[in-house]
Amino acid sequence: MAMIWDEVNQELGLSDDSEVSFHVANLDDLHQKHIRWLRTLPRVKPFYAVKCNSTPAVIRMLSTLGTGFDCASKGEIELVLSLGVTPEKIIFAHTTKPQSHIKYASTRGVDMMTFDCEEELLKISACHTRAKLVLRIAVDDSKSAIKLSQKFGTKPSVVKKLLERCKELDLEVIGVSFHVGSGCTDSLAYRQAIEDARHVFDTAVLLGFQMRLLDIGGGFPGKEGFQIQFDEVINEALDKFFPADSGVQVIAEPGRYYVDSAFTLAVNVFAKKVVMDDVTQIRGVYNVSIDQGVMMYYISDGVFGSLNCLINDPVVESGEKRYRSIIWGPTCDSLDRVTANYWMPEVQVGDWLLIDNMGAYSVSISSDFGFFDKADIYPVLSADVVEAQAPCALSSHIYLSLPYLTLWVRGGAVHK
Ligand code: PLP
Repeated sequence: MAMIWDEVNQELGLSDDSEVSFHVANLDDLHQKHIRWLRTLPRVKPFYAVKCNSTPAVIRMLSTLGTGFDCASKGEIELVLSLGVTPEKIIFAHTTKPQSHIKYASTRGVDMMTFDCEEELLKISACHTRAKLVLRIAVDDSKSAIKLSQKFGTKPSVVKKLLERCKELDLEVIGVSFHVGSGCTDSLAYRQAIEDARHVFDTAVLLGFQMRLLDIGGGFPGKEGFQIQFDEVINEALDKFFPADSGVQVIAEPGRYYVDSAFTLAVNVFAKKVVMDDVTQIRGVYNVSIDQGVMMYYISDGVFGSLNCLINDPVVESGEKRYRSIIWGPTCDSLDRVTANYWMPEVQVGDWLLIDNMGAYSVSISSDFGFFDKADIYPVLSADVVEAQAPCALSSHIYLSLPYLTLWVRGGAVHK
């Protein structure tokens, strides 16, 4: 194991005593996800939601694979343009934008953008008259982990009035968008939303608009092994409400689908306490029952960094003895608790823990609160994929070859 660890350290350029957490970003996984997307949703062109994970290697990889991009701010537009993406491959998919961001989009030729209220139309008509507008509607998001329709989207009763306002302002409306909420667990939510969008298209046609774009948003799960199938229901609904010969182009804004399973986070255990004595206090505060003491670990990343979502994986059965463990992030804030009651084998100071499915809304939300280092990111890519895709575009991102990653995950002092 020591030998493998040394080689990994050498490949990553880590010093022997490094304690800084890091992500290994498996770009092959993005490639596989993309192939699966093309196979299962052939009519839907993905515009990757940059907010989910804006790592440049991810953007470059997806750009090489041919996706478009959903940007939600001036900064995201700047980033993807700086990585060689052309403006027509961008949708500015935020319905309430600062005016300076709209002006920037206008100067850079990013024309496609969403809206959901009259005030936004007034800003757009003042500084981006060439805009190609997409009306975002509110849809049922009750089956999703993160709900968005309370904050964004026009209600059906307002649609007609809003479209009439677009006519008065001489603005071009090219389509309709929705988002069923992030981490959707029910494919029927897409079916209903696609039907809702059809009604808006019908209203728009009566008002004289030539609608030609349907944007079915994000929400598609991205964890390895996720079971729910969305494609059948979506394809059926598209064929029914927007048949291929309708001339309507269909796009989506997947975020977590592409990146969730691609990132594995390695965190260092830099401190440990075994709490045996003050059992009542721990039971009261953390709601755990204690018969053998509780392990408290302090790790190099926490809720103010990449681990802003709690780990709640089921306990894996194995012969190894497991202990109730509380895992704390590195900062001085007591809110920085990654998990309060997790059964795992005992680990030691200096060990590394590996956490799967860390690509979505982790690095993009992470801060350096308390001046603790943010996790580094090491993208990896196998030679086959580099050769299959444009080698020049990708080769600058190979830091570690995949066989190392596989060996390393199996290693003795690294826990998964
Ligand atoms: N599009 C918009 C407008 C969003 O707000 C989001 C997420 O918040 C996404 C796309 C990406 O969603 P997901 O990561 O669930 O695919």
